[in-house]
Amino acid sequence: MKVAIIGIGTVGAAVATAVKNTGLVHEIVLFDRDNLRSRAAAEDLGHAVAFSWDVKITAVNNYRGIRGCEIVIIAAGANQKPGQTRTDLLAANASVIADIIPRVMANVDSKNVKIIVVTNPLDVMVMLAQKISKLPAARVIGTGTMLDSARLRTILSRQLSVSPQSINAYVLGEHGDSSFVNWTSVSVGAIPLDDFCRQTKSPLSCAARATIERRVQNAAYEIIQGRGATWDGIAGAVADLLRCIINDECRIMTVSTVMGAGRDSVAISLPRIVGANGVVTTLNPKMDRTENAKLRRTTKIIRDNFVRLQKSYKA
Ligand code: NAD
Repeated sequence: MKVAIIGIGTVGAAVATAVKNTGLVHEIVLFDRDNLRSRAAAEDLGHAVAFSWDVKITAVNNYRGIRGCEIVIIAAGANQKPGQTRTDLLAANASVIADIIPRVMANVDSKNVKIIVVTNPLDVMVMLAQKISKLPAARVIGTGTMLDSARLRTILSRQLSVSPQSINAYVLGEHGDSSFVNWTSVSVGAIPLDDFCRQTKSPLSCAARATIERRVQNAAYEIIQGRGATWDGIAGAVADLLRCIINDECRIMTVSTVMGAGRDSVAISLPRIVGANGVVTTLNPKMDRTENAKLRRTTKIIRDNFVRLQKSYKA
């Protein structure tokens, strides 16, 4: 399997390391408009190969170099600076996606390729990438709230003293400030959260749940405040998604992909079965009235941002 990563900044470089460490690819191609940067990253990561299994890592200075790639990961574009929201990146990163996708599509097999979008604001970038590429929605996959869901599981794991691997808990909606926790569907093992809390005598009050939800939403802001950017978590998410696709694992992941048609279309994170051909099925989890209202709100925010973007392009 040959995989390309476009955009070798902080995130792209971390993703390259994580992808190499899956042991599932034989070649990783790195492209950045700053060729010096991608060459240096390929060189550095290439040295690490001597300590692991053999993976060919090459930096290319034009898109012909990605020919033969079955999966293309887009991690190019501006990141949030302290105090910025993901939506603040909308116009700048739309230009980046509009620059990259046609060049990618001119050099890959459109019948087979899967595009993984990491660039923020994630959901709108997925919509744009899908529109420009004209690929089936199932094969343009944003990492969505995979990272947010991982953050939620990590916090719950510490609170409940149980491994995050045993916690089924999803953050849904936008990969952004309007995301929400689908508390109604949280289970530990096969046990609904409330039952688990009762049995283990570890109550989780409404106030505690609201605090957890806020911590998940603010996690990126706190990390950016402390280390300037986030990269380890998202690199783990991309590697996990890649593993799921390459091995056709059909696992449930909260990825973001376009659903609906025309003016009703939107890319949003819901639990989805992901396999070799990308998204196989979208699932509708159980939600209470409050969660349904949050889903409607977050859907509207993403759709409005996409419409705003299209208007600014036409203006
Ligand atoms: P960065 O500034 O460190 O790197 C961005 C890289 O993109 C740079 O090397 C730049 O040269 C390259 N680039 C810009 N325009 C390009 C173009 N047209 N063609 C090719 N390369 C181009 O930023 P970063 O910290 O690596 O973040 C990258 C993106 O990932 C940001 O949009 C950030 O918000 C996003 N991100 C997403 C998640 C997520 O969960 N989806 C998590 C963290 C970061």
